[in-house]
Amino acid sequence: MNSLEIQERQRFTICHEIAHILLDLPSSHEEVPSWAYAKRHPNEVACDPFAVELLMPYQQWLSTVPKEEPSLELIQYMADEFGTSFPAAASRFASLSDIPCAFVTMERGYVRYTTRSLQLKRVGAWISPRSSIPSDSVAHRLRTSSVNSTVTAKIAQDIWFENWEKGLDLWELARHYQPMDTTISLLWFDSEDLPEVEVNRFGTRIKDNEDLSELTGELPWPGRNKRH
Ligand SMILES: [Zn+2]
Repeated sequence: MNSLEIQERQRFTICHEIAHILLDLPSSHEEVPSWAYAKRHPNEVACDPFAVELLMPYQQWLSTVPKEEPSLELIQYMADEFGTSFPAAASRFASLSDIPCAFVTMERGYVRYTTRSLQLKRVGAWISPRSSIPSDSVAHRLRTSSVNSTVTAKIAQDIWFENWEKGLDLWELARHYQPMDTTISLLWFDSEDLPEVEVNRFGTRIKDNEDLSELTGELPWPGRNKRH
């Protein structure tokens, strides 16, 4: 870790600690090592979004973010503006974006966290937590080659999203951090490439073939007037 990364981490940690005090939630940092797959304590999970809001306040973020396609330069610009890490800025970008956009954090080859923009939530775009990195993704390619690098490429949308339409593309900007075996991906596409689907009240996509068969007007049991 270089000194800049240490500074970014310290800023986040300070905001996280302020959250503990303001939300009156006791911390339980020592129970689980940060690299463990075990579930974090609910207090810890609750303090993170608070820290994010302190570091990258909603209104300030929206007035600063350039109205352009995401790119390595744009995310780095936002990270510099707010003094946060690249992954933290990419995550904030995805959650506040008005385009279909998602941010995925992967550790040791498995999906750890996903942030989705409102548009993606509305169509039920889903990436399973704890699933392995999809083999045709840019993230997988980077991790397999075991080097620290950032690559942006166009791939099929159904590589990342479960039960997804075929034939639509998205952009994936992936970065791999080899020493920590951590990979991140920012995924986005044009709104016109967003499939039109319905979701139920649980946010699950309703598929056409799951619809009830059309009503014919005939009752499936013998009618009363058929009596002799
Ligand atoms: Zn904490």
